[in-house]
Amino acid sequence: MHPADFLVAKDFTSRAEEQIPPTPIEMRAMLLLGLSVAARGYTFGSRSLAVTSRAATPVMEATGPVCIVTGGSRGLGRAIALALGKEKCKVVVNYAASAAAAEKVVEEIKAMGGDGVAVQADTGTQEGIEKLFKATAEKWDEPVGVLVNNAGITRDTLVLRMKPSQWQEVIDVNLNGVFYASQAATKIMMKARKGRIINIASVVGRFGNIGQANYAAAKGGVIAMTMSMARELGSRGVTVNAIAPGFIESDMTAELPKEIVDGVMKNIPLGRFGKPDEVAGLVKYLALDPSALYITGHCINVDGGIAIGTC
Ligand code: NAP
Repeated sequence: MHPADFLVAKDFTSRAEEQIPPTPIEMRAMLLLGLSVAARGYTFGSRSLAVTSRAATPVMEATGPVCIVTGGSRGLGRAIALALGKEKCKVVVNYAASAAAAEKVVEEIKAMGGDGVAVQADTGTQEGIEKLFKATAEKWDEPVGVLVNNAGITRDTLVLRMKPSQWQEVIDVNLNGVFYASQAATKIMMKARKGRIINIASVVGRFGNIGQANYAAAKGGVIAMTMSMARELGSRGVTVNAIAPGFIESDMTAELPKEIVDGVMKNIPLGRFGKPDEVAGLVKYLALDPSALYITGHCINVDGGIAIGTC
């Protein structure tokens, strides 16, 4: 129900409780809103006035699709989960270790009229993804409509010094995890013949970066995977897109040394880091807007202009 509808319905309900018959204008509004007069507790003639169970329907109802947001506890994922929650989606807030932060995101989502659940699962493993999708299916009896592959890590160092474990950890979470989750979602979405997958890549996946060969390889892989999956799933009504953020304020970029930040800033035409909400806005559009149904296989930058001309 739209909040405005609720305001009208609530007013009618209290009038019914007081046994005040609706005015003609109210009657017309009720009909326009599709509210049955009887269901709102009004009857005519000798029949008694009674408030039926319809009036007891929960005020806030999450009417949006089931959306899984990996890494939804902090940073961009948190902003994405909240943006979807605000649109009354049922949001799975996945996290690796920040249980309290994830629970807080869920609380905020519920307060805004959405629904949510926090699920701990390591998205860098197939077992973690199975756990994530199992928990989602247990919570809501409807197919996953939106998957946002957002969880990501960095293990920055020069190639010469990079340990195999630093390479592997980043590839596991930032690339393999996107594959495992997308494959699991694909099975559900193909059956439903609808769904939207949104992968959070990076401008680094387009132009590389010193000290980030592992991260760039993973993000470049995600962009290529996005194009391939979009070609495979288009005929099944499933869209697959990526977003390439530039430098966005989060715990990840808070770790950057000042001299790097100063150097980066000179190359951002808009002269500032982006905000998580600015990425979340595009995710919301790709995930929920009807007009986004004709966009698939693309990687869209949200980067203050740092990557102009690279795509
Ligand atoms: P962040 O603040 O460090 O948050 C990372 C999120 O990912 C946290 O919720 C974390 O959960 C979760 N996570 C990490 N490893 C995980 C795992 N194995 N399983 C499940 N969840 C895991 O990062 P961010 O800056 O928001 O980045 C989010 C995404 O945007 C990443 O894919 C990143 O590469 C991409 N990106 C960020 C920027 C930027 O400037 N910030 C730019 C381009 C792209 P816990 O809280 O439990 O640790």
